Amino acid sequence: MKRLFIIKENLKILVKNLKKECDEFIAPKREHLDDIIFGDTKVDGGELLEYEGNSVISPRAFLLPQSEPLFEIKSARESDLVPIQDKKRRIFYGVRPCDIKALALMRRFFLDAVVDVPYQEKMEHSIFIALACNTLCSAEAFCCELDAGPVAQEGFDLQLVAGENGFLVDVGTKKGKHIVEGHKTLFTNAPARDAKQANALFKDMAKGCRRIDYKKVAQAMRDNKVAESVWDDIALRCVVCSGCTTLCPTCSCFRVVDRLSHGKGVRLRYCDGCPYAGFTRMAGDNAPLPLHKDHIRRFFEHKLNVDVARYGAPSCVGCARCIRTCPGNISIRKFIEAVAGQTKAE
Ligand code: SF4
Ligand code: SF4
Repeated sequence: MKRLFIIKENLKILVKNLKKECDEFIAPKREHLDDIIFGDTKVDGGELLEYEGNSVISPRAFLLPQSEPLFEIKSARESDLVPIQDKKRRIFYGVRPCDIKALALMRRFFLDAVVDVPYQEKMEHSIFIALACNTLCSAEAFCCELDAGPVAQEGFDLQLVAGENGFLVDVGTKKGKHIVEGHKTLFTNAPARDAKQANALFKDMAKGCRRIDYKKVAQAMRDNKVAESVWDDIALRCVVCSGCTTLCPTCSCFRVVDRLSHGKGVRLRYCDGCPYAGFTRMAGDNAPLPLHKDHIRRFFEHKLNVDVARYGAPSCVGCARCIRTCPGNISIRKFIEAVAGQTKAE
């Protein structure tokens, strides 16, 4: 992988230029009582070129929004549906490595076996500029245990690694190379000293990190070895606020609803969530999993068991958003550790 360098002033120029080449520049900014969120800064210029921690909501919100129109319904009787295309050119800037890895996990679901065209269109027209972490974003984060941080190995077009005088720039794809070639004068070769410092920092951050044996966890779940008391405890604490599924960068469940008003119709996609009682309700009001504890259990089963069987790796990047938001203090990290036999369940 090619590694270059850009000084801070030149990065500002690059961002200014890139904004002219896209429809939306999705970048981290401070809003709502100083929280970091991702938003379009093409016009307001409020992007943070560098920041600590991670955003409250991941950039997933732009690729799989809470609701999105998929088709215009011309005639419901004749099933005349016209796809609503989204060809906006989006540049995602400052995306953390865990969220970059989450995109790869989402790809397995939306693009591998059956292609989800609206999602594919958005991905094709998007550019991802990652920003490696130089501190752990929270005490609960466990990205390095799942190989999802503090620096991304793949899945980005460009990756910035902050240093004293500027940023190392990793070029990950042809799209990234195209950006560099179009702004050649802004980049220089990476100074050996900065590269050495960055590697030392990442090594330091990964100290004490124990890789999770997620295959062992999945097997234990498959063999039904998780004590019933663990599921009972989780169910007791879960108030179905849906914070976990809303914030998780890898949650991909959705439902499709047709809305008709004033003779016009639209087919919408809404994000759905496994903690909801109605998530698997079928025609005739039949609910195959009627118990509350089975609902939130689906969150754990899907990420740590089903997806390991289906794709060979869990759908969790250790960002800890679900842990930090949960009013019931439910921790997927502690669950994993308990099942893997590394610590006792609380
Ligand atoms: S965040 Fe916690 S309380 Fe809310 S739905 Fe998820 S597990 Fe339940
Ligand atoms: S399950 Fe929790 S820790 Fe894992 S990716 Fe989702 S929000 Fe992050």
